[in-house]
Amino acid sequence: MTQTLLRGRLLSFHRDPQGPDDTEAYTYIEDAGLLMRDGLIAARGTFAEVRAQAPQAPVTDHRPHLMMAGFIDTHIHFPQVQVIASWGAQLLDWLNGYTFPEETRFADPAHAARMARAYLDLLTAHGTTTAVSFCSVHAASAEALFAEATHRDMRMLAGKVMMDRNAPDGLRDTAQGGYDDSKALIDRWHGKGRNGYVITPRFAITSTPEQLAMAGALAAEHPECHVQTHLSENRAEIAYTAELYPEARDYLDVYEGFGLLGPKTLLGHAIHLTPREIDALAETGAHPVFCPTSNLFLGSGLFDAPGLGARGITSGIATDVGAGTSYCMLQTLNEGYKVLQLQGHALHPLNAFHWATRGNACVLGLQDRIGTLDAGTEADVVVLDSRATPAMALRCERAGTLAEELFVLQVMGDDRATVETYVAGTPRKATTRPPLQQRAAEPA
Ligand SMILES: [Zn+2]
Repeated sequence: MTQTLLRGRLLSFHRDPQGPDDTEAYTYIEDAGLLMRDGLIAARGTFAEVRAQAPQAPVTDHRPHLMMAGFIDTHIHFPQVQVIASWGAQLLDWLNGYTFPEETRFADPAHAARMARAYLDLLTAHGTTTAVSFCSVHAASAEALFAEATHRDMRMLAGKVMMDRNAPDGLRDTAQGGYDDSKALIDRWHGKGRNGYVITPRFAITSTPEQLAMAGALAAEHPECHVQTHLSENRAEIAYTAELYPEARDYLDVYEGFGLLGPKTLLGHAIHLTPREIDALAETGAHPVFCPTSNLFLGSGLFDAPGLGARGITSGIATDVGAGTSYCMLQTLNEGYKVLQLQGHALHPLNAFHWATRGNACVLGLQDRIGTLDAGTEADVVVLDSRATPAMALRCERAGTLAEELFVLQVMGDDRATVETYVAGTPRKATTRPPLQQRAAEPA
């Protein structure tokens, strides 16, 4: 039995707060104990209460920092760690000019393995403990990511992209090959350790109807797996999709027609939606995913989170690195706040932090395992320092409430605010050192 008792301030959500005064929506404990045992949360409460239950457990004292569930990123591209911050393009040119050439390198298992280590280091450095990842078209890229996540006992959801057209040589599968590779990866990795396989047709433009039909067949054969793709990010993308699928009523109808929509479906972006598409999202329970730093960076548009929420549609929030500009969910919430401000809506920090933790867990249907600090759930924890920089410390002198402190973290915080990240009870922040520059010299 391995156990650690963490001491610090604790915040964990039970539901999305209905307003700034909805204190029933969360637990906040000023001097808390969080007992982690064998990868799970064994107990939480006041430090004195939990200490009495585990008098022998070694204590890690994080006071005065804030402990909460590790962040969940519901849309991110693992093979784009060296694409982030590429200049000057909108979606389709950005894919062709930057992303596709980079992704061809992931055919090499050694390259994929090195990038998988760097990728998971970066996620945990930023307090993210679960990510829903797009891999490259190569099975080797998914193999590398699942192997590294298994090694770290990290909850990873991922899939190789299926793409059989409109992509360069070396980056296309076939309808049958994409199906076979995905099926073999499901058999090999789904449910192994903390891994989950996600059936991942990249988007309508890079798949033939034959391939989307086979992706739909795979989803029907494997209802235990999630499905992820992209939807209505950019006007040129939507127009091209309409040309490629002239029979479809709209973009979403392409996926709907091939049986790819349901409560386990994640649709990156979903910015420019028709009323019919919004109806279909509400009916099928599929989840749009808001990627604010990416949407601003590529000039894609403004995601209407409140409008979709009013229709009962539950959206995720995510980085979308490498079009996203930060691995940090704090910075993602910061840019999300601004996108919603442009539409006349002020995202409250309690709702923001719920979104990046339990909210995203609900989108994945995993709220009984991750996204809270409830006893019995997996011990994925981030410890945050709201005074991590001189500017934050100065601002926090005038922050009198929990909500004000959270908003400082959201607007001003980055990886410097992550004091520690526990993955299944093991501290992982330290794995980011030595820095990546030194790691570049590692044999591939
Ligand atoms: Zn994406």
